[in-house]
Amino acid sequence: MSKTAKSVWNNCLLFIKDNIQPQAYKTWFEPIVAVKLTDNALSIQVPSKFFYEWLEEHYVKILKVALTKELGETAKLVYIIKMENTYGNKQPFTEKIPSSHRTAVKSQDVDIPLNNKSRELKNPFIIPGIRNVKIESQLNPNYSFENFLEGDSNRLARSAGLAVASKPGGTSFNPLLIFGHVGLGKTHLAHAIGVDIKDKYPEKTVLYISAEKFTQQYIEAVKKNNRNDFIHFYQIIDVLIIDDVQFLSGKSGTQDVFFHIFNHLHQNGKQVVLTSDKAPVDMQDIEQRLLSRFKWGLSAELHNPDFETRVSILKNKLYRDGVVMPDDIVDYIAKNIKSNVRELEGAIISLIAQASFNKKEVTIDLARVIVEKFVKNTKREVSIDYIQKVVSDYFQMDIETLQSKTRKRHIVQARQLAMFFAKKFTKASLASIGSQIGKRDHATVLHACKTVDNLSSTDKQFRKYVEDITKKLSV
Ligand code: ADP
Ligand code: MG
Repeated sequence: MSKTAKSVWNNCLLFIKDNIQPQAYKTWFEPIVAVKLTDNALSIQVPSKFFYEWLEEHYVKILKVALTKELGETAKLVYIIKMENTYGNKQPFTEKIPSSHRTAVKSQDVDIPLNNKSRELKNPFIIPGIRNVKIESQLNPNYSFENFLEGDSNRLARSAGLAVASKPGGTSFNPLLIFGHVGLGKTHLAHAIGVDIKDKYPEKTVLYISAEKFTQQYIEAVKKNNRNDFIHFYQIIDVLIIDDVQFLSGKSGTQDVFFHIFNHLHQNGKQVVLTSDKAPVDMQDIEQRLLSRFKWGLSAELHNPDFETRVSILKNKLYRDGVVMPDDIVDYIAKNIKSNVRELEGAIISLIAQASFNKKEVTIDLARVIVEKFVKNTKREVSIDYIQKVVSDYFQMDIETLQSKTRKRHIVQARQLAMFFAKKFTKASLASIGSQIGKRDHATVLHACKTVDNLSSTDKQFRKYVEDITKKLSV
């Protein structure tokens, strides 16, 4: 019976399977395809250069034993690296011929002797020199689904999170982007997904990282000439959770590297979870190609919790801390702190502290004092209507004129200023600002903001407008 690449490789696999962990076998051997057999050399196709390096690093011995059994002492292994390609963009981490089609596959033969010494995987989380490929998840076990209370405001995001956690990479929610204002639970939910996955699939490599830290690591890596190691490290992760991706705004180098990591993970069925304080359409200075990928999966918004949810969040907190508090006080807090769960928790913590340290009884009056402190600390938000009024008064025109379709320069400028201030002083999205100021679209608002930025740095008179109106809006 003559040997074929397939038969030789299958025999090798049988041997390897018996000798390594099932998960490792699945990850590192199942994706390999035997391609050809010439003399004593077996060519196998591996999904990436990184994959090849990993095999060389960790499995070269067993590969050698298996292949020698099949082909004798002169056995040789040839790797063929299958390249992932992405819209013809350069992929600095593999040397390959550019191609314009996304699914195009280019092969590159790499002939490596079995005793080739390969490089170590550099983990940006550990001190250089210490060899350690185990990746710590950086997850906070206190942020679980169990204590993330469900309400109308978060039902979609929470259930999508649960779905992702039970089948990471296996749902259409990839990436899952959770967005919403500050203090509504994005970080909590992001951790909960990771914690749940670690629980269900202990062998999966999960990593939580803030976009800020990711950026710092990347800058470090570039400084130390380790860019490729940085990319390789992130490419072996099964579930990558990046918190506050809006932080990548304007950081084109980090966006570029994240784009490549994202593509690699996505193409290999790995799960990506992102959080942001804005919807993708409202993210500024994020490259279009990245934004479009953010939209591939599901964007789920966290809204302000309704009264019932606020009450249950408070009660849950009290229960976990073993504190009993009269219902009317819990209701009072829930009624008065509406738009931020962090503040809601802060108020109840202060109240508990006051009560236990000062041995004061928890009364409505005490609750009132504490709530006031919290509510006062959060800057009162000016409304878009108010901004339009201030701006049109300043230029002595009425609001209808400000909103009209005219192209007269001074009116256009007033309208652009109103949009600029609405962006600056409210949490409204670009789309919502546009629709409230003369029914324009988000691109017009974005353009207005940029124009105001430019003019105020080049035009003295215009800068004065901006300063004057800022003063009026700040009192
Ligand atoms: P964000 O990242 O959106 O700014 P966080 O995830 O840090 O918000 O949440 C702020 C605080 O509110 C955290 O302590 C979190 O545990 C709590 N929190 C938010 N939403 C919920 C919820 N649905 N149930 C329980 N706690 C919540
Ligand atoms: Mg957060």
